[in-house]
Amino acid sequence: MNLIFMGPPGAGKGTQAARIAGQRGMAHISTGDMLRAASEAGTPLGLQAREIMARGDLVPDDVMIGLIRERLGEPDTRAGFILDGFPRTLAQAEALDGMLTDIGRELSLVPVFDIPEATLIDRLCGRRVCHAAQHVYHVDNNPPRVPGICDADGSELYQRDDDRPDVVRARYQKQWVDAAGPVRDYYADRGLIVHIDAAAPQEQVAREIDEVLDRADGEAA
Ligand code: ADP
Ligand code: AMP
Repeated sequence: MNLIFMGPPGAGKGTQAARIAGQRGMAHISTGDMLRAASEAGTPLGLQAREIMARGDLVPDDVMIGLIRERLGEPDTRAGFILDGFPRTLAQAEALDGMLTDIGRELSLVPVFDIPEATLIDRLCGRRVCHAAQHVYHVDNNPPRVPGICDADGSELYQRDDDRPDVVRARYQKQWVDAAGPVRDYYADRGLIVHIDAAAPQEQVAREIDEVLDRADGEAA
């Protein structure tokens, strides 16, 4: 299966994508994680992206399209992939179609994570990620066993610059309210959208999305 997870920042896309990719042997492609890794490494792309991300703006389409084109060429995507955070604009969605045609692949489904804005603020302000591999926690909903330390790899947890309340609101407005509508419409026209109640507790979201994916897998077989 080849999936795109859509939803506002903080809806729980990364949490579910990491779990599902691990369980089903799919590639989890998070453009936010890729940009943060580039930023930590201090590459020219990372330095350019760092300032844009800190403002809650979108990184230019040509940069993102180049990044995904390269990533989709890697062998681990052949068993299926989950795109988490891409495409975020119509130009990115159209470019993705071209790339998929080139490599002979098709999209299976586009789950959309529905959630009210007020819930997002709490999720993002309480989110902590690890330095080594960007494993995701929440100080109340999903705390690590030892405060401030990643359960999976022992690295230190930090709060993202763009998870401050002012930037969180800007990201919601600019990235979800202003930019995402045409992308949702694009996939809705092709009958690929399925809605997930992302405001539910994590285990319930997991059950709902697993049922959707199992059904789609069964239909494809
Ligand atoms: P996204 O990738 O959509 O930006 P994340 O997966 O990083 O969102 O989740 C945002 C925050 O909310 C994290 O701190 C995560 O631990 C927490 N979280 C994820 N899913 C749920 C849920 N269903 N209920 C409560 N908190 C959640
Ligand atoms: P995320 O980790 O998905 O919340 O993404 C963090 C930040 O990376 C976003 O706020 C954007 O600045 C940038 N970003 C990630 N993916 C994209 C994309 N597909 N297009 C443009 N900017 C992106």
